[in-house]
Amino acid sequence: MWRAGFFVMKSIRLVSKRLRFQILSRDGFQCRYCGVTATASELRVDHVIPIAQGGGNEPENLVTACHPCNAGKSDKTVSQLAIPIADKKQRRKEMLAQKAALAAVKESQRVRQEIEDTVLSFYCEAFGVDSIRKSDLGLLVFFFTRYGEPVLEWMRIASQSRVRQRDVMKYICGIRRRWCSERPEFAGDVQPRGGDV
Ligand SMILES: [Zn+2]
Repeated sequence: MWRAGFFVMKSIRLVSKRLRFQILSRDGFQCRYCGVTATASELRVDHVIPIAQGGGNEPENLVTACHPCNAGKSDKTVSQLAIPIADKKQRRKEMLAQKAALAAVKESQRVRQEIEDTVLSFYCEAFGVDSIRKSDLGLLVFFFTRYGEPVLEWMRIASQSRVRQRDVMKYICGIRRRWCSERPEFAGDVQPRGGDV
């Protein structure tokens, strides 16, 4: 009797805090029945095979469940969980990929901002103005991204010509046309005839 009682006590012991955290982490703090993500305090660690039916505290028999799913399940055994255990390595890989993607976006935004600043300050200095039309800036940034430094030279040439301010962009586009047509790698950027840009 004593031994039997002891055995029962041992088998129904609660999931330890450490084990609980281990299971929540493994499941990504996500209910494996319905997929809801919740804070640790809102999640239960549930036995797939209930203790009453002989289930134990092995990690394979433990799943993260939200309160509604846990409450609805009662003592029934689930044959299939909605959300498979995500492989830890896979999850880490995805997380790193997301981080890298975010860093790449930030970097390209930074580069774009740098180009915009460069083009804007160069334009303002060359033409003695303190602003530029947004569409013109956009076009010059696009040119700079594609052709690099020569675009600054195009602006300088335009500023030293006697072209009217409102025709400056047309003038720069003309320079670009000639510049591209002289370079096989960029010749495809401009059509032999027809409108620019
Ligand atoms: Zn749930």
